[in-house]
Amino acid sequence: MYVVSACLLGISTRYDGGCFCHEKLMKLAEEGKVIPVCPEQLGGCPTPRDPCEIAGGDGGDVLDGRCAVISWTGADMTEKFIKGAYETLKIAKACGAKKAILKARSPSCGAGRIYDGTFSGKTIPGNGVAAELLIRNGIEVYSEETAADILEGDPLRPEI
Ligand code: SF4
Repeated sequence: MYVVSACLLGISTRYDGGCFCHEKLMKLAEEGKVIPVCPEQLGGCPTPRDPCEIAGGDGGDVLDGRCAVISWTGADMTEKFIKGAYETLKIAKACGAKKAILKARSPSCGAGRIYDGTFSGKTIPGNGVAAELLIRNGIEVYSEETAADILEGDPLRPEI
């Protein structure tokens, strides 16, 4: 069973009310092997909402209280992002999911790289808040970009 970012599955959870349709992940969902989650909605953020980025750090810094998640308009969204990360972890644990495929570069879901906090499209190394919490709890986290290769080669599927 995979935890997957809801916005990759045609579910309109993105900040702008939109979504993506990742063909292979949607097929996996049809097979009943996916739990869709949106950490930002789970944390109480509305949809649509102002875009947010982590200011001056990564998801680990947010979880450890060293920096904040700030919206485009300057609102401090840290508490909601942390709550959403813990709710996502609860869902992963409840389902016994050991792997997650999350939206690349998101301040919640990004795995390996995230937007740099300047709302300029630039990225830095690091994980989003929810991705980091899942990793800290022993869950393997991929992005849809790294998972595309994984699903192509199919090495994970027998383990689901
Ligand atoms: Fe929700 Fe993550 Fe998609 Fe953002 S990237 S809309 S937090 S599922």
